[in-house]
Amino acid sequence: MKEPIYVAKPFLPPKNEYNHWLDKIWETGILTNQGPLHQLFESSLSAQTFNGLATTLTVNGHLALEIAVKALGLSGEIITTPFTFVSTTHSLTLNNITPIFCDINEKDLNLDADKIESLITDKTTGIMPVHVYGHPCDVEKIEAIAKKHDLKVIYDAAHAFGMTIDGKSIAGFGDVSMFSFHATKLFHTIEGGAAVCQDKSLKPVLDAHKNFGIEDEETVNTIGGNAKMNEFQAAMGLSILPYLDDIIEKRRKIALRYRENLDEIDGVSYFTPELDSDKNIKYNYAYFPVIIDTAVYGKTRDEVYDKLKAHNVYSRKYFYPLISDLGCYNRRYNSKETPIAKKTASRILCLPIYESLTIEQVDYICGALKTIRKGR
Ligand SMILES: *Cc1c(COP(=O)(O)O)cnc(C)c1O
Repeated sequence: MKEPIYVAKPFLPPKNEYNHWLDKIWETGILTNQGPLHQLFESSLSAQTFNGLATTLTVNGHLALEIAVKALGLSGEIITTPFTFVSTTHSLTLNNITPIFCDINEKDLNLDADKIESLITDKTTGIMPVHVYGHPCDVEKIEAIAKKHDLKVIYDAAHAFGMTIDGKSIAGFGDVSMFSFHATKLFHTIEGGAAVCQDKSLKPVLDAHKNFGIEDEETVNTIGGNAKMNEFQAAMGLSILPYLDDIIEKRRKIALRYRENLDEIDGVSYFTPELDSDKNIKYNYAYFPVIIDTAVYGKTRDEVYDKLKAHNVYSRKYFYPLISDLGCYNRRYNSKETPIAKKTASRILCLPIYESLTIEQVDYICGALKTIRKGR
């Protein structure tokens, strides 16, 4: 392939459809501060993708996590996973909370719910699981543990947008779910995010935290930062929302083609979360992670990553290194205490997936994986 194939490529709506919303901005002259497009996008998103749950748009996903932590008044220790993007743990550390790392399941690479309880101390105030790659966490078990120990649950659902479990939005679990609308995500607003909560009375608290604590012109009872989504971001969201089903369907076809191809390549395994569950999962095909089994494939994950580059294919080592091995955390943590996460981080590779990736490109990437395997 002459053109490099990157792991992700942002979806861009037809320009005239974005222009339609830009015209509205020029008409009103309102650029931010929860203007008309922000309001319309917030309500449309909630109605179409979150079962009408209370939704607060934010300038990015990370700050949605931070305002959720603040709005729920969390402190002390929070149990989370080391197999995630740094934003998850930074949202805690930046709020003077100590992340406590729980190991993951080999099956779906999410927090192992059976290992949570042994990590609870008198300092624990909550759990922050991540629906990694859109693989749904064991939401029922986590809810039962949270209830039993009176803990709050914030889901990092950055990867899980558009998903449902038995017809219910994935945002309907835990106290708050955070979604990221970064350009590299399945659905985006250039940068952006949302915090979705089950308890309606939490929304004004989240809203206050994203806008300096301002309730009205003369009332400020909360010390809040600034995390507002602007009108241009909302315009992008409104332009892309009508394409959501189409985007997921195209990704589904790509994922199925990968699976077909990979069935012929020993030592490269993939995940099928929508087939493995006893529930009816509407999966979003946000990522295509594979596990490289060196003993069978004959090459290490790092070798595969490098050799794919020589074929002009840019995969990503998501999530490597583990959070507990990063320079800013490794003095406080020992990643050997989460052995499954540690082992997974050295074997995982995310292959390119985005709606405009063609079936020919998928076949090319898998052909490269076959060639690389033969060269052992
Ligand atoms: C992308 C991402 C975030 C952060 O979202 P931004 O919108 O980039 O701030 C947090 N957690 C996970 C797991 C992510 O993938």
